[in-house]
Amino acid sequence: MRAYTYVSEGTFAMTDKPKPVLQDERDAIVRVTLAAICTSDLHIRRGCVPRAVQGVTVGHEMVGVVETVGSAVRNVQVGDRVAVNVETFCGECFFCRRGYVNNCAHPLGGWALGCRIDGGQAEFVRVPFADRGLDRIPDGVTDEQALFTGDLLSTGYWAADLAEIGEGDTVLVIGAGPAGICAALCALLRRPRHVLLSEPDPVRRAFVREHFPRLQAFPPEEIAVRLAQTAEHGGADAVIEAAGTDASFRAAWQLARPNAAVVLLAMYESPQTLPLPQMYGKNLVFKTGGVDGCHCADILRHIAAGEPDASPLLTHVFALEEADRAYDVFEHRLGGAMKVALRP
Ligand SMILES: [Zn+2]
Ligand SMILES: [Zn+2]
Repeated sequence: MRAYTYVSEGTFAMTDKPKPVLQDERDAIVRVTLAAICTSDLHIRRGCVPRAVQGVTVGHEMVGVVETVGSAVRNVQVGDRVAVNVETFCGECFFCRRGYVNNCAHPLGGWALGCRIDGGQAEFVRVPFADRGLDRIPDGVTDEQALFTGDLLSTGYWAADLAEIGEGDTVLVIGAGPAGICAALCALLRRPRHVLLSEPDPVRRAFVREHFPRLQAFPPEEIAVRLAQTAEHGGADAVIEAAGTDASFRAAWQLARPNAAVVLLAMYESPQTLPLPQMYGKNLVFKTGGVDGCHCADILRHIAAGEPDASPLLTHVFALEEADRAYDVFEHRLGGAMKVALRP
């Protein structure tokens, strides 16, 4: 089968590999129907993900159809349309039992697919712990609507949960890229009064205006004034930081009201400073980390009920064979690209 592969630092290439087979009674093989490209894939190609194994098929955000199941798999059957979870987790260890599946203690626990084991930018993918890693896509939900369930929407859903958003709140999301938009869409499920996005790129602000009218995107230099007009208690009731720069980190705590939760969703490329003397008395709660992606079934239920619909984020789809071109479009945001996917 064809598989897009991490060959060496700086190089991904299309390769021929044998079709994956079951290695454990809890595995399933999925025929991939749509696989997204993620910023994390670019990090792997640049050699910035130390755990990534050369030779591995990349791709960790995909949907498909179950082709084969191991004898211990109960939740999915051959022929089911499924969303694949970015994280592999056993469901039984100390962390899994508490919902902290990102830190699953199993050797394959956490982000394995498309990083440490073969992923989904290929015709087929083996999914370990298939009962945890696969969720049936409800009838009426398209591949495009379900595609981001296992990674981007899981991340947004988790962030909105950590942010402790209450009804009537004003939520600030910093960064209107795919992760920020998904976090904002998931925040809407909690019935806030306003969800504001801070975004320097006018193209991305226009994209939000066009496709997600319930969200309001403003340039960073305007956001403090806009917050003063909408938030009643001296800042945002909850902040989700999805931009990952020094300036966005600073804005996240400065624009939060006292006692707010500040969720750091972004991956930073350098350490950040907490100026504790200036922050003293603001009594903020910081939450950090990588997604605990164990709410895919809930997310799919919400999608089936009408929201979140993140499918407008999928701006470009290419045939699997055109992966090089697709990566180029994604990396350089050509043609206003937000999310790009491959169709095997
Ligand atoms: Zn990802
Ligand atoms: Zn576990």
